[in-house]
Amino acid sequence: MRVIVVGGGIGGLAVALGLQRRGIEVQVHEKAAELREIGAGVIIQPNGRRVLADLGVDEALAERSSCMAWMHTCHYATGEVLDRVPNAAMAQRYGLPLLAVHRADLHGVLLDAVRANDPHAVVAGHDFAALDQDAGGVSVRFANGATDQGDALVGADGISSAVRSFLFPHELATFNGQVAFRALVPDELVPASVRVNELAMHRAPGRYLLHYPLRGGALMNLIGCGTTGGWEAEGWSIPATNAEFLATYADFAPDLLQLIGNVPDGGLFKWGLRDRQPLETWTVGRVAMLGDAAHPMTPFLGQGACMALEDALVLARALAASASVGEAFTRYEAVRKTRGNTVQLQSLEEGRALQDPTLPRKGAAGYGLLDYDAATVAV
Ligand code: FAD
Repeated sequence: MRVIVVGGGIGGLAVALGLQRRGIEVQVHEKAAELREIGAGVIIQPNGRRVLADLGVDEALAERSSCMAWMHTCHYATGEVLDRVPNAAMAQRYGLPLLAVHRADLHGVLLDAVRANDPHAVVAGHDFAALDQDAGGVSVRFANGATDQGDALVGADGISSAVRSFLFPHELATFNGQVAFRALVPDELVPASVRVNELAMHRAPGRYLLHYPLRGGALMNLIGCGTTGGWEAEGWSIPATNAEFLATYADFAPDLLQLIGNVPDGGLFKWGLRDRQPLETWTVGRVAMLGDAAHPMTPFLGQGACMALEDALVLARALAASASVGEAFTRYEAVRKTRGNTVQLQSLEEGRALQDPTLPRKGAAGYGLLDYDAATVAV
C-alpha cells in the first residue's frame, strides 16, 4: 500500500510516522515552501502524550518543553490567584502531566522521526489543487503542476483544508466575533509577578488571557482571546500591534499589560475565529481527512492538536489492520467521528464559559476526554 498525505503539520506527520512504523509507504506533500511551524505554544494533554509515546517521540519532546508545577486561575483585574491545581495531580490521575510545548519542537521531533525512516518522505512547496479517484487508486495534482498517485489519500491540511473544500464545496464557516492574539515573550521581558504563576488563566467578561512557559521557561507563550466588533481573517499569522492588543485588554492587571507592552516588535499575531458545524462524513472513497481538516475546532479546550494526534494513530492502525482501504476508512470513521465531532461542539461550549467568569469551566478533564488511549482503543 502507498499512502499520500496532504499537509505536513502535526496530524500529517503523525500519521506518516504511524504508517512508517507499520511498514506502509507514505509520501507527505506540504504547501509551505519551507518545512517549519509558527512560533507559538501548544499544550499537550495526557491523551495527546499517549500518542506521542506510542510514536516514540514523547521523551525527546518532554526534554525540550515545560512541565509546569501548577495551573492557576487568576482574577483578570487584580491578578489575585483564585484557584490552583498541581500538574502532579494530572500525572497521578492520567499517568502523564500536561506538557507546554513550542510548536516548532513538536513539529521538529515528528519531522526528524519521519525523515529518519525515509529522507524523501516529505516534500515542500506542494499546494493541493485537485484529486481524482477510481477503483484502482487515487491521484492528486498540486498548484505547481506536480502529481502523485497512491492507494489512499489523507487530507491533513488543517483548519482551512483545501481537500475538505474540494470534497464539500458548500461547507459554511462563520466568523464568530472573536479575535485571538498570540505572542512569545523572552523570559527577561516577563514581569516577575507573571512568571511566578507559570500557567495562568485570567478570565474576564467577554475575554481571557492565558500564559504558560515554553522551553523550560526561556519563553512565555501569551494568548488573548475575546469578542470584538471587527472582522478578522482566519490565518494564524496576521501581524498585530501591541496597541490594538492593549486596547482590548485595558482593564486587565497592570503586570499583564506590561507583559503585552513588552512583546517584541513584529512578534504579535492575530486571527479571527470561525464556527463550523461537524461534518457528516470524514471519508469519501479512497480519501480520508484528519485533524482540523476533519473537525475544525476553536482553541478553547486545548484539544485541537491532541485530536489530530489521536486521529493519526487510529488511522495508521486501521490501515495496517485492514485488507482494503475501504475497510480501513470504515473502521477509522467508526472509531473517531463521534469523538472528534463531539469535541468540536464541546470546544464551542467551553468558549462561552471561558468568557463568562460567572460560569463554571469544565476543561478537557471535565468533559472526560483525557482517559482516551488511541494506541489501544479497538479499531
Ligand atoms: P496543522 O497542524 O495546522 O497542519 C496543517 C498543514 O497543512 C500545515 O503544515 C499547512 O501548511 C498544510 N497545508 C494547508 N493547506 C495545504 C494545501 N493546500 N496543500 C498542502 N498542504 C497544506 N491545540 C491543542 O491541542 N492544544 C493547544 O494548546 C493549542 N493551542 C493552539 C495555539 C495556537 C496559536 C494555534 C494556532 C492552535 C492551537 N491549537 C492547540 C490547535 C492545534 O494547533 C491544531 O488543532 C492542530 O495543529 C491541528 O493539526 P492538523 O495537522 O490538523 O493541522
